[in-house]
Amino acid sequence: MPSLTHMALVELEKAGILKFVISQNVNGLHLRSIYQGRLAELHGHSFMETCPSCGIEYFCDFEVETIGLKETSRRCSDEKCGARLRDTVFDWEDALPPKEMDPAEKHCKQADIVLCLGTRFQA
Ligand SMILES: [Zn+2]
Repeated sequence: MPSLTHMALVELEKAGILKFVISQNVNGLHLRSIYQGRLAELHGHSFMETCPSCGIEYFCDFEVETIGLKETSRRCSDEKCGARLRDTVFDWEDALPPKEMDPAEKHCKQADIVLCLGTRFQA
C-alpha cells in the first residue's frame, strides 16, 4: 500500500508544486500514486516485465520472480512475437537506464528545489 509519503506527494502534485519524482524503489508504489510521465524509476520495477524483442511492457499484479533483467517464465502475448519476457529490475552492477536517467537529470537541473525523502542519499 502507498505510504503517507506517497500520498503527500500526490497532494503536492495536485497543487501543482511537485513536477517530477525520481525513485530508487522497485516496488511500483509511486506508479500507484503518481501517474507516468512524471516518474523516473532508476532501478526498475518489480511488478513489470518487458519484451526484449518488440518492447511491449507488461504490468503484473504479482512481483516478478527474477531481478537483473533476466528471462522470466512468461512469453510475450503478441502473436507475431512470443519472445521470452525479462524482468525490469536492474542489478547493482548495471548502468542506470538512459530512458529513466535522462529525464531525471533534466528535471533536477530545472528544479527550484529537490526533496530527498526516505533515503540515506549518499552521493
Ligand atoms: Zn514481444
